Amino acid sequence: MKETVTNELITEVGTMKRDHYQMIINGQRVESVANEVMDTYNPAKGEKLATVAKATREDAEKAVQAARESFDHGKWRRWPVGRRARVMNKIAEIMRDRFKELVEMEVLNSGKSVGAAIAQINQAVEDFEFYAGAIVGHRGTVNNMPYGFFNYTHKEPVGVCAQIIPWNYPVMMAAWKIAPAIAAGCSVVVKPASLTPVTAILINEICHEAGVPEGVVNTIPGSGAVVGDYLVEHEDVDKVAFTGSTPIGKDIMAKASGTLKRITLELGGKSPNIVFEDADIDAAVAGSLFGIYFNTGQSCEARSRMFVHESIYDKYLEKFVEKTKKLNLGDPFDKATHVGSIISREQLEIIDGYVNSAVEDGATVLTGGEELTIEGHENGHWYAPTVIVDVTPDMAAVREEIFGPVVVVEKFSDEKDVVARANDSRYGLAAAIWTTDQGRATRVSHQLEAGVVMVNSPFSAFPGTPFGGYKESGIGRELAVESLDLYMEDKSVLSYYGSKPINPFGV
Ligand code: NAD
Ligand code: MN
Repeated sequence: MKETVTNELITEVGTMKRDHYQMIINGQRVESVANEVMDTYNPAKGEKLATVAKATREDAEKAVQAARESFDHGKWRRWPVGRRARVMNKIAEIMRDRFKELVEMEVLNSGKSVGAAIAQINQAVEDFEFYAGAIVGHRGTVNNMPYGFFNYTHKEPVGVCAQIIPWNYPVMMAAWKIAPAIAAGCSVVVKPASLTPVTAILINEICHEAGVPEGVVNTIPGSGAVVGDYLVEHEDVDKVAFTGSTPIGKDIMAKASGTLKRITLELGGKSPNIVFEDADIDAAVAGSLFGIYFNTGQSCEARSRMFVHESIYDKYLEKFVEKTKKLNLGDPFDKATHVGSIISREQLEIIDGYVNSAVEDGATVLTGGEELTIEGHENGHWYAPTVIVDVTPDMAAVREEIFGPVVVVEKFSDEKDVVARANDSRYGLAAAIWTTDQGRATRVSHQLEAGVVMVNSPFSAFPGTPFGGYKESGIGRELAVESLDLYMEDKSVLSYYGSKPINPFGV
C-alpha cells in the first residue's frame, strides 16, 4: 500500500480531467432537474476547466429526501460499527489509488501548489482512517444510580446533516465534514463551494465505490444563497456543519434557529504569531513564513498578525523579508513552486484593497503589495507575498481577515502586553508562539484566546487534534474524537429493576 504519493506522479497534466461533472444524489450521478450547469475555472490560468451540474432547490430537495430515506430506513447506521469502519478504510484506500486524479483536479480547480495539494489530500485520506478507528471505541456510559435504578447512555447519530464547505481546501474540508458524520452513522448532503466543486464530487464517487450505501452521501454543487440557504432552513435537516466566512456563519446560525438545528461553525481568523526574544530565530522565520504563505494565505488559521520582540525585531524581520522574496510563484504543478494563485479576481481585489487601505493609513509595504504576471499564466490571479509594517491596531488590514498572502508586523516589548494585543481580536481560531522558554510557552498558551495554539510548530492540525475557534471564529471542533459527539445525540436510558412496584403518587 502506498503511504504517501509524491509529485513524481504528476507527469502529464490534464489527463484525468473530464469535460463535465455531474452531481450525486442517492448514489447516482445526475444532472440538475432543470438541466442547469455552471462553469468551473482554473484560477492559475484564468481559464475554464469544466462544466458542472448546478443544483437548484428541487435538486437540494431530492438530495435531502435521499439522505432522509437512507437515515430513517437504510442500513448504514444499523450496521455493526466495525463494518462501517471497514468501508471508511476502503474509502481511504481508494483515495490512495485515485490520488493522482485527486491531486491533479484539486490543483487545477484551486490554483494551489502541487505540494500543498498533496499534503492536504494525504491528510484527508488519514481523516477517514482516523474516524474509522475512532468510532469503534466511541460509546456511551453506565452511570452511578440509587439502588433499583439503572442508567446507561446510548450514542445515536444526529440524523441528516447539511455540510457546506469553502473553496480554500476542497478535498480536506470535504473529509473533515464527511468522515466524522458517516462514522457516527449520519447521512449527509454536501454543498461544495461554487468555485471548487470538482473534488468533492470525486470524494462522493469514492464513497460509493468503497461501499457506502446510496443516499448516505450526496453532493450538490450550487449557489450558497440558493441551495445553502434551502438546506439550512429545511425541516428534514437535523444539523448544519459550515466552514466559511464569519458573516455567512452568523447568517446560518440565525437561519438554523428556526428549526433549532445542531450547528458546527468553522469561521474566519486573524491569528497572531508571536516571536519572543528567546526564540530560535531561524526556526521562527521558517515556521512563520509557512504560517502565513502556505495555501497562498487563503487559510482560516493563517498567522497573519506577526508580533516580534523589539530586541530581535530588525534581525528577524530582515531574514523574514529576505525569505519572503525567495518564495517561488509559478506553475502550480512545478515542484519548486511554494505559493500558488489566488482563487479568483474578486478575491485578489479584496486582498489588494486591504493592502492599499493600510498604505493610505500610513503603513509601509516592505515587499510585495502588488499583483504579479506569471509566465504561461498571464490570465491567472497572482499576488506577491506581502509584508506590511508601521501598522496601528485600528487598521482594517490588522483587524480583518484578508485571506491572502499578506502579513502585518508589530513590535512588542513585554509578554503581558503582547498577550493582550494578540487577544484584541473578535477572532480566536489559532495562535502561534516561538520561544525556547518552556514556562513561557505554557503560560502564554493558556492565556491566548484561541482554539489552537502552536508552540514552535508551523503546523496547526493533524487527524486527532481538535480544530476550531473561540469567539467569532466558530462553534465546535473538527478533526478529532470531540467531533464525533457533534454528530451524535446522547440518549439517557433509565430503568427501574426493583421487584417492588413504585407508586409515587400513592393513589
Ligand atoms: P464563504 O462564507 O463565502 O462560503 C462558504 C460556503 O458557504 C460556500 O459553499 C458558499 O457557497 C456557502 N454559502 C454562501 N452563502 C451562503 C448562505 N447564505 N447560506 C448557506 N451557504 C452559503 O467562504 P469562502 O469564501 O468559500 O471561504 C473562505 C472563508 O472560510 C474564510 O473566512 C475562512 O477563514 C473560512 N474558513 C474557515 C475554516 C475553519 O476551519 N475555521 C477553514 C477554511 C476556511
Ligand atoms: Mn466567498
